[in-house]
Amino acid sequence: MERITWDQFFLAQSHLLALRSTCTRLAVGATIVRDRRIMAGGYNGSISGGDHCIDQGCYVVDNHCVRTIHAEMNALLQCAKYGVPVKDADLYVTHFPCLPCTKSIIQAGISRLYYAEDYKNNSYALELLEQADIEVIHVPFDERKIDFLSDEKLELYMELITKLREKGASLEELAPYEMKVAELFGR
Ligand SMILES: [Zn+2]
Ligand SMILES: [Zn+2]
Repeated sequence: MERITWDQFFLAQSHLLALRSTCTRLAVGATIVRDRRIMAGGYNGSISGGDHCIDQGCYVVDNHCVRTIHAEMNALLQCAKYGVPVKDADLYVTHFPCLPCTKSIIQAGISRLYYAEDYKNNSYALELLEQADIEVIHVPFDERKIDFLSDEKLELYMELITKLREKGASLEELAPYEMKVAELFGR
């Protein structure tokens, strides 16, 4: 397996955290990193011990779920709770942060913001980040990097395609599948 880059490694951590999200609307994960060390992480979820959206449904006001604390805030609050400084740290988040989170990220002293996916990209948030001289870096996440069964899966698909060809499937019929396999495995 190819060695994973630091950016992909920290983004993988954020995507893993997102899997713990309790909100059904969007699963977000955030990781705070300093000197290539993970300081804290968070996902969007309820206050500890509170009702979960996955059990009770979202608590929607003005088209926003108000029950959850956002991933970025949870990561920052974890640092506040345990006394971990975040000044000049980096934040890796699965989705571009909302405006209130952006303001907190700036105020907490985060110096670089890495995000995997565009998400509404609030223009005022972008303006504030620029004013605060925070580097905003879009790094798409490559799921293949953390698929430990990637080689076995590719082998299986190639075997199936070969079998289908032997059974008489035409090149034309198989082309879309071969294209999909190439797309999924980057080969
Ligand atoms: Zn919710
Ligand atoms: Zn937010």
